[in-house]
Amino acid sequence: MNLDESIIKIKGIGKAKEKIYNTLNIFTIRDLLEHYPNSYEDRRNLIFSNECINGDKCLLKGTVINGPTVKKIRKNLCIIHAQVEDEKGIFEVVWYNMPYIANNIQLNNTYYFYGKTNISYGKIKLESPEYSNEGSFKKISGIVPKYPAAKGLSQKYIQNSIKNVFNENVKIFDYLDEKIINQYNICRLEDAYKNIHFPKEFNDLKEAKKRLIINEFIEIQLGFKYIKEQSKEKFIPLNLNEKIREKIIKLITTLPFDLTDSQQKVLDELYDDISNSKRLNRLIQGDVGSGKTIIAIIMLYISYLNGFQSVMMVPTEILAEQHYKYILELFRELEVDINVLLMTKFKSVKSRKNTLNNISNGEANIVIATHGVIHEDVSFLNLGLVITDEQHRFGVKQRKQLTNKGNNPHVLVMSATPIPRTISLILYGDLDISTIDTLPNGRKKIKTYCVNSNYRDRIYNFVLKEIRDGRQAYILCPSIESNDNLSSVEDMHAKLKDRYFKNIDIGVLHGKMNSKDKENIMKLFYENKIKVLISTTVVEVGINVVNATIMIIENAERFGLAQLHQLRGRVGRGKFQSYCILITDNKSKTVKSRMKILVENDNGFIISEKDLELRGPGDYFGFNQHGLPNFKLADISKHSKLMDIANLIVNSIINDNITNKKQKDEILVAFNDKTKMISMN
Ligand code: ADP
Ligand code: MG
Repeated sequence: MNLDESIIKIKGIGKAKEKIYNTLNIFTIRDLLEHYPNSYEDRRNLIFSNECINGDKCLLKGTVINGPTVKKIRKNLCIIHAQVEDEKGIFEVVWYNMPYIANNIQLNNTYYFYGKTNISYGKIKLESPEYSNEGSFKKISGIVPKYPAAKGLSQKYIQNSIKNVFNENVKIFDYLDEKIINQYNICRLEDAYKNIHFPKEFNDLKEAKKRLIINEFIEIQLGFKYIKEQSKEKFIPLNLNEKIREKIIKLITTLPFDLTDSQQKVLDELYDDISNSKRLNRLIQGDVGSGKTIIAIIMLYISYLNGFQSVMMVPTEILAEQHYKYILELFRELEVDINVLLMTKFKSVKSRKNTLNNISNGEANIVIATHGVIHEDVSFLNLGLVITDEQHRFGVKQRKQLTNKGNNPHVLVMSATPIPRTISLILYGDLDISTIDTLPNGRKKIKTYCVNSNYRDRIYNFVLKEIRDGRQAYILCPSIESNDNLSSVEDMHAKLKDRYFKNIDIGVLHGKMNSKDKENIMKLFYENKIKVLISTTVVEVGINVVNATIMIIENAERFGLAQLHQLRGRVGRGKFQSYCILITDNKSKTVKSRMKILVENDNGFIISEKDLELRGPGDYFGFNQHGLPNFKLADISKHSKLMDIANLIVNSIINDNITNKKQKDEILVAFNDKTKMISMN
């Protein structure tokens, strides 16, 4: 029997139980083996009744000296009761509504009992204990696994199902060989599976977990490497001849700034890929404001000069609009005639049809789009380059869907969210990584303060002063409509327009407005016709209004650190001194320490590492929904040491070239399983 066969083959599992297992996503024997306990009961110590501690679960042995009796209390309640004696005293055992037990337990016989003790007035009582005959100590003792609850599957039943797997002589293939197992001092896979369910010692359990966690990391990392291998297969290289180089230089010289060394370094890495006829498959990560957009545009231009269409997908309409305008302006200055198309929400069926036509007949050279572009109706004539901006807003799945619109196109992924190394390995294991690690020169550090609402007068007066100097401000609220507990855009607007900012142009922006209105407000803000923009997090990513210098964040405790850093990044994008004011009335220690991290740090990488530590990966930017792998045991915020070991093993597997087909297949099966949600294809 092998692990991928159905659980129905296991002794004791019939159609009915199979169905229940299926509801837990357990279909194969492998699934069952990987249905890990979530806790364990230590029943190794048999004690005497006088050693019982109230409330603890205890294992006792005794002889029934009275009962068992069945007492009907009322219609739906009967109590089974017996008195039991051991060498040190007497205790009682009771069960509720299980009359059959009265037939199983017999006067003058000796049993083991395991259950929670209740001691009152010196009387010891075990409530609904498990029990076994004198001869079957093994059945009831030891370290006993407890599984996640499931209706229709008792703990005993699950334990037995898994015991039966090991009795069936199922073949467990270990894709790590003896050499690696010895080198890294890890246990064999079969032992790991056995010991995570039925450990004899807690140390066995520890070793088992270690091995299985390492496996989860290996499968993800090696799986990505295999995928990466595949992606090197046929693709059309980009060309970077003299003529094209000249054109790029011209583009760069029309910019109002010099590229930073960091930007240049990343460009060189991209040029290297191209010159070596490599398929671009790269993540560009750079902190907020580090200047990723221009790199994207240069690459779009190169793709165009090679005769390809390209697409840049961004998470919000506002951002799409902004990029679109910026590109148009740049190309106008360059006096090149490139057909750039904006694809966000469609105003009519006809305009949708038109847009799709332009894309499929190749008329559109560059498409700037929101996620609608991954819809199956959209097809390109010759898609050569795919860029996703602010990748953390999309899943790996969406990135793949977009890539599939071309014939293995070049791929660039941009992320302003500095991703801790551990996460980037797991989300972007198939990508090369380039990092823009400095901000453009002359940027002033954003002054960040955390205050409570008593400071409002001072804050708004300060905003007025900045506005008098020509600057602009964002006020960010967590909610749109009036809300008892949270600052809302509506309340804030009502309050400010009649009081603090009577003669000031205020704009309101949130996700429920229609595209036209949003566009309009953003336009006025860009043009400095609106001085204060009261908004929800729709401005979180990418928005670039260089003249804005104040970011006020209401209910700052509501946001994640990395998110706050992103929001703060909306200011400080030009030469003016900028300010971020975090308002919170929450006095809890955690909130205070989180705000402190932000006040004291301006490096997004450090902040996101701390965010990950504080919140755990599940909450981290909602990555769960975006397809972090389905790890069963591994936790990327806690197991970085094991991840390092996995990393070393992956490298030695690759370097030694010892990957055999069976090993590869096994790893890919596990990889696909873990990335089902991510859907790699
Ligand atoms: P992000 O990396 O957050 O996407 P952007 O590409 O939007 O950052 O750039 C932020 C701002 O910095 C923009 O106004 C952009 O024009 C400007 N910028 C980009 N590169 C440079 C540079 N080398 N020197 C000065 N300003 C730059
Ligand atoms: Mg950006």
